[in-house]
Formats: sequence, C-alpha cells, structure tokens
Amino acid sequence: MVEVAVIGGGIAGLSTAWELLRAGARVTVLESTDRVGGKLRTESIAGSMVDIGAESMLGRRPETRALVAELGLDVVAPAMLGAAVWSRGEMQPMPRGTLMGVPSDAAGLRGLLSDDEVERAAQEQPVEFDGDDISVGDAVEQAFGPAVVDRLVEPLLGGVYAGDARYLSLRACVPQLYDVVREGRSLQEAAAAASRFQATPAAATDDEPPVFAGLRGGIGTLPQIMVDRLEAGGARVRTGVTVTGLEPDERGWMLRQGDGEAQRFDGVVVATPGPATARLLEASAPTAAQLLRSIEYASMAVITYAFPGSVREQLPEQSGFLVPPLDGRRIKASTFSSLKWPWLGQQRPDLVYARVSMGRFRDAEALQRPDAVLAADGLRELREAVGELPAPVAVNVKRWGGGLPQYATGHVDLVARIRDEVACLPRISVAGAAYDGVGIPACIGSGRAAARAVHEQLIPSDSR
Ligand SMILES: Cc1cc2nc3c(=O)[nH]c(=O)nc-3n(C[C@H](O)[C@H](O)[C@H](O)COP(=O)(O)OP(=O)(O)OC[C@H]3O[C@@H](n4cnc5c(N)ncnc54)[C@H](O)[C@@H]3O)c2cc1C
Repeated sequence: MVEVAVIGGGIAGLSTAWELLRAGARVTVLESTDRVGGKLRTESIAGSMVDIGAESMLGRRPETRALVAELGLDVVAPAMLGAAVWSRGEMQPMPRGTLMGVPSDAAGLRGLLSDDEVERAAQEQPVEFDGDDISVGDAVEQAFGPAVVDRLVEPLLGGVYAGDARYLSLRACVPQLYDVVREGRSLQEAAAAASRFQATPAAATDDEPPVFAGLRGGIGTLPQIMVDRLEAGGARVRTGVTVTGLEPDERGWMLRQGDGEAQRFDGVVVATPGPATARLLEASAPTAAQLLRSIEYASMAVITYAFPGSVREQLPEQSGFLVPPLDGRRIKASTFSSLKWPWLGQQRPDLVYARVSMGRFRDAEALQRPDAVLAADGLRELREAVGELPAPVAVNVKRWGGGLPQYATGHVDLVARIRDEVACLPRISVAGAAYDGVGIPACIGSGRAAARAVHEQLIPSDSR
C-alpha cells in the first residue's frame, strides 16, 4: 500500500486525506498547530462553541454537495434575513439582483447611491483592457462608475477576500463576469441573467441544499468530524508537527520535522498557505517557491461579542451588514450570528452573539493594536451602526494573520505556472486557498484534485 503525507490540516489538507483514503492509500496528515481545521475553528465564548473563523459555505457547489453526502452530514440554512450596507452613516438594504455588486438594474441601487451615481450606473459603458486580465474594480468602474465599486463591490469583496477591488483579478475572483467582459457583452444583462437563475429559493428544499450552508454547532466542527472519519478509516492525523523540509529521493519524499525527526513517504501533498508552501518547495522547486511568494496575503481579526439576550429586540431584522472602506470605519462587516443561525439563537436564547471583522489588504496598521483596543473600537462602531447596546458579557478577539490570499490580476496564469513547476517533480502536488478559490468548496476541490494527481502517479489507474 502506498503511503502519502499531507502537510497542513486545514480543510484543503483534510479533503486531500479523505480522497486519498477513499482511493485506498495510507495517509498521514501533519499539522503544525495543536488542532486541525486552519481557518475553520470554533471556540467557547460565554459557554457555547461558536465559529470564530469561516462560518458558512456555498451549499450548492458540487464540492460541498459531494463531501456533505459522503460524510452523511445535515447542513443547516441561515435564516432568510436580508443583509445591509452601512454606508454614509445609514443602514441601507443590500440591493437585490446583483452579481458580486454588478447591478442587474441600476434603479435598485437608489438609496445606497445618490441620484447622480445611479444615473451613471444606468449608462453602462464598454470595458476595455489590455492583456488577459483586469481588476474587478477597474472593470466595474469603467462600466458603471466609481460609486458602484466603492459602495457595493468593495464591501462585498472585502467580506470575502479582505481585499481591494482595484487589485483583485476579475478572471480569478469572478470568472463568470470575466467571460462577459472578454466577449464584450453587457455586465448588467449577465447580472440579470444570473439573478433570474438564482431566483430559486435560497433556503433548502427537498431537492436542493441551501445556497449558504452551515452546520449545527458551527462550520468549525467540520474538521473534527473529518478527523474522526479519517482515523476510523486508518489514517493518521498528527498535530503539533511542523514540517520544515522536503527532499525527494529515488522512491519518494523525505520529510523533516521541526523536532529533527525525518520520515519517508511515497508521495506528498502540500496543503499549507502560500508562504509555508514556498519555504517547503524552495530547495526542490525554487521557481515555484518564488512565484508563490508573489501572492500577497491580507490579515484580519474577527471579534465576537456575547450580549445579553435583550439585545435581540434592538438589532435590526437582518443577518448583518457590510461597510464600504471609504467611509473610514475600522470594521468592514458585522454578522448577527444568533439571528443568522437559528440553531445558535435556540441554543442560547439568553445571549445574542454578534461579530465584527477588521483588517483589509495592505492595512496592517489597523490590527497593530492590543486586543482590548480592537474590541472597544469594534463595539463603538457596532453601536454607531445599530444604536446603543449594553456591555457584552464576553468578548473573543481572534487574529487571522495572513488569513486570506489576494488574487492579483494575472493570478490564473501565475497558478498555472506554479502547477507546471510542481508537475516537474514526481509524486507531489499542492492544494489550498492560494490557488483556485479561497472559499471552502474551492479548497475542498483543490485538495481532492491534488490527492488524485499524486495517487495517479503512484498507482496509475490503468494498472489498478
Ligand atoms: C476569518 C475568515 C473567515 C472566512 N470565512 C469564510 C466563510 O464563511 N466561507 C468560506 O467559504 N470561506 C471563508 N474563509 C476562507 C476559507 O475559510 C479559507 O480560505 C480556507 O479555510 C483555507 O483552507 P486551507 O486548508 O487552504 O488553509 P488553512 O485553513 O490555512 O490550513 C492550512 C494549515 O496548514 C498548517 N501549516 C502551515 N504550515 C505548516 C507546516 N510547515 N507543517 C504543518 N502544517 C502547517 C496551518 O497550521 C493550517 O492549519 C474565511 C477565511 C478567514 C480567514
């Protein structure tokens, strides 16, 4: 039986291990911290476990559906509440029928945008660009004017990437819109078509899972569920093991660990964030390492407050709100977790959990302050947004240093070059958020694809 090491116990690494186990390989997951899950993590706040990292996944993506079915999980839908944008000091409902902020009908932006800005957005202009990529912000600004970028696209992208719309690649981040722009078609019509398609209910039906899916107990429970299943199938999951070196030999790979131990494996999948993967590939694939280092990361912090249950009456009936960066606030989004996730509201009717996130790409200064200051700033702005709130009974500050890779223009080509370089090495592959999408389904997909690539080299399908 072939033995494969998976370096990194985030959702990409665990999905890699799951796929390898199903293919019949012996698997060892090596995770440097004391627990698996990476950005999927729950922590006890005021006596209940709540997500302090990722909190939902796109439920209808095939990668999610497959893993959920294989693990026999019951996903839960968030409450059908609207979201809002806290813009120019007012809470505005999130316009309907937009695709990553691209409007299907400019009139729907009224309120969030001024009359002049709406008028400009109604006059869609063609998007021109050189080369084979353009930033999301540049494309939308050319088409609909700067206000659509600043007040809608930017907060939406900030929520997903902690990024800057005028830096992030349209091709990598919103490929549906990239194809539209490249073919010279109307973005507005594409957004209208997409919202007609999405008009199927967001909630789960008998045939369809919810658009956004969570797990009772938090999406951060998924890693341990996977570990239990992996270990039951014979896989080894080792935490507290940092892999520091990776050397090919004639039969496979020698892995060096931080404690000086070394171990041989037939194949390896590196499922760590870009900078760690670059360090591990430095000796064997220096060009890939250099390319990986060019992917920049944004850091962020998630601050979760547990308020007394009476706060429920004070919060607007919405799942949370986004904040455009140009308004100069410290927070970029807030989620009213107890309203958004009915299981949490029912589990703790005596409390209301709400969280805010801070930290944007290239704004490291915003996070260089003590936890207590971040928590106080977040609370002050939350109060400015929703009105006076009592003191929280508990607060949790979680910093996600280098939490999210930024897909700059040209990212798709960059990833193709990294993969080409890694493909020159035998029996090794890479997976994770740095490559084909930062969302959980994309990370699941990249892990499973990496597992298949390495397994195919070890035991070609035509020899099985
Ligand atoms: C705050 C936050 C909220 C998010 N919310 C959502 C959301 O709601 N929905 C969504 O779809 N996505 C969300 N994302 C994005 C998504 O969660 C991540 O992109 C994804 O989980 C990354 O998975 P990964 O396995 O690639 O990497 P990681 O989760 O970073 O896992 C990599 C693992 O490798 C380990 N490691 C690193 N170096 C070594 C080494 N040398 N040896 C051994 N182990 C090592 C790390 O400790 C880590 O556990 C969010 C991200 C953040 C930061």
